[in-house]
Amino acid sequence: MKSPGTLSRRRFLTTMASSAAATCLVRPALSFAGGDPGSRGTSWAWSDTTSGGSALLPWKDQGVLNLANSPYAKLHTVPVRAVTIEEGFWSKRRKTNVEQSIPTMREQLEAHGRMDNFRRLVGKSSATQKGPYFSDSDIYKWTESVGWALQSGDRPELRSVTESMIREVVAVQEPSGYLNTYYVGDRVSERMLPKSQEVGHELYNLGHMLQGAIAYYRATGDATLLDAGVKFVDDFLIPNYGPGPNQKPIISGHPEIEMSLIELYRTTGNRRYVELAGYILHGDERATIEPQRIIYMYCGIPFTSRTKLEGHAVRAMYACCGATDYYLETGDPSYWKTLNVLWDDLSKRQMYITGGVGARSQWEAFGNAYELPNAQAYGESCAAIGNMMWNWRMLHASGEARFTDIIERALYNGINSGMSLDGVTYCYRNPLAFDPATGDKIRNPWYDVTCCPPNLERTFASLPGYFYSTSKDGLYVHLYDNSQLDWHLENGTPLRVQQKTNYPWDGEIRMTVTPAEATDFTLYVRIPGWARSGKVAVNGKGMDGVKPGEYLPIRRRWMPGDAVALNFPMAAEIIASNPRVAEDRGRVALQRGPIVYCMEQIDQPSGTALADVSIALSQKLDKDSQPEFKADLLDGVAVLRHDGAVSEIPSSREALYAPVDSSTPKTRSEKLMLIPYYAWANREATPMQVWTPFLRS
Ligand SMILES: [Zn+2]
Repeated sequence: MKSPGTLSRRRFLTTMASSAAATCLVRPALSFAGGDPGSRGTSWAWSDTTSGGSALLPWKDQGVLNLANSPYAKLHTVPVRAVTIEEGFWSKRRKTNVEQSIPTMREQLEAHGRMDNFRRLVGKSSATQKGPYFSDSDIYKWTESVGWALQSGDRPELRSVTESMIREVVAVQEPSGYLNTYYVGDRVSERMLPKSQEVGHELYNLGHMLQGAIAYYRATGDATLLDAGVKFVDDFLIPNYGPGPNQKPIISGHPEIEMSLIELYRTTGNRRYVELAGYILHGDERATIEPQRIIYMYCGIPFTSRTKLEGHAVRAMYACCGATDYYLETGDPSYWKTLNVLWDDLSKRQMYITGGVGARSQWEAFGNAYELPNAQAYGESCAAIGNMMWNWRMLHASGEARFTDIIERALYNGINSGMSLDGVTYCYRNPLAFDPATGDKIRNPWYDVTCCPPNLERTFASLPGYFYSTSKDGLYVHLYDNSQLDWHLENGTPLRVQQKTNYPWDGEIRMTVTPAEATDFTLYVRIPGWARSGKVAVNGKGMDGVKPGEYLPIRRRWMPGDAVALNFPMAAEIIASNPRVAEDRGRVALQRGPIVYCMEQIDQPSGTALADVSIALSQKLDKDSQPEFKADLLDGVAVLRHDGAVSEIPSSREALYAPVDSSTPKTRSEKLMLIPYYAWANREATPMQVWTPFLRS
């Protein structure tokens, strides 16, 4: 199936050549039409290795993305190592991540044979192949989390374990460059067949290999895995797959390769990787794909012909990441237009209040517009992470805070919920209502499809890299927590920024800005979209123009030690969804600052079953709903207390249906207690533990 908007392949080649030329390459790029694919790099007429004429940043200066030479990036990342997160909200999570989650996940990967899959192929293990065909990606995502973690401080033991794992991985690489532990032996003949590309995740595994290799390289300068990734792409993939007459069709099947190829370009300067990513995003017209698969896979037709989010949520989010990366390198306006159409669909019709996405369990998929069930919500951890990763890219293309608002929403809620507070169990689904009577166990140490745990680990390990970005005129502040930035402006002036705050429990942030010498630049401070008002002062002098949901530009001559005070009053708010969300009719959620709240049975007055309560809308939140910080509860959380009405038609009755005597509605009043959504299910489940951010009103 091809959409009406499909470009012909010939026209695609022309478009590619002209858009590549427009990005001021040293030599105009490629002729995709050319050549015998058999000999690497010669007959292909690829562009020479180039980063658009600019020198590559040294490896240790590259951020989560390396946008230093991306011509359409308005903002540029800072390396993870440039930001130290100090004692505060995220420090506990990050300590647990590196001391508990990452080491125990390695044990799990070993216990479930994921490394033996590699050892077996070089005669070092007699174990049979274990796990699904995307199991190699678990190792690579784990390696990526180690890479980011090592940027926050060397851990020789972890580094040495990872180095030996990397050696065992690259030992399996075949002379052709191919490296995959599933398509071996009897399955060699299935490698990269059209059907295998659709379902077999070979390119997905390669994409994660590249991302893991890049993170590890940016942390240590060790390019062992990166070299193997480059060899796979240069020797196996590019000569054999692509638009040339002697090349076979290519589709990603599970988008991931697109963004990783572009990051490989940003790491090596080899432009051909952007071109291949663009070709995959366009879709190979020679591939015959069922219409349903085109929806599900979110690839196979031109990305720019998409008009809504649909199909498998993680695939769609990763495709959007790759497409935004492609825009950042090429400036193709049709991509930017499509990305904004899809972002509108995400933010107006398809996203949970937690930043989670992908409503349907069936196919792990987006639902119809406004189809956002609570108990049935899928909300895979990986999809919320994909949402954050996509918005991170959109932010760098635009400098607009609407994207940062979604990053913050997903990070504090739908992503943060995915890992238990002790760091050893994980959610695959992140539903918005739950009753353990269903028998569903939501937090587990291991899943046979274990995509989410290492995905959460790499996200928390890379978190310092999300706090700031630079632009040619200054510095952007995206996230707030006790922290210190030691980096430099784009003009080279060293710059330190310190943050002192109790965020997200209150909205007061004190920043100290210390350039090495008095310097003119703009400090862009983010005014969160949830704020109803806000005050910003520099050295005690109030600033005008504070608008929630935007960055406030403060242009001045900054002197060492200048003080910036931010204050965003943080009242609890009752939030209603659009009435078209059928499941949320007659329900409201409570949110305070960036934190979405929920209720657990265990916190409620005895004899009050959550199934029987509704929230009293009459309570004046600003006066009565002051948070109470409980240092000993759930690693320290601010709880809210709120009036509730308890129905005296109890859920414990036996009758499924019974008449209601409307003349005497019976309720009694109780004070209910709410905890942050991200912390749910971290205590022993009580027999009837129903919770939901969306409570009956
Ligand atoms: Zn997952």
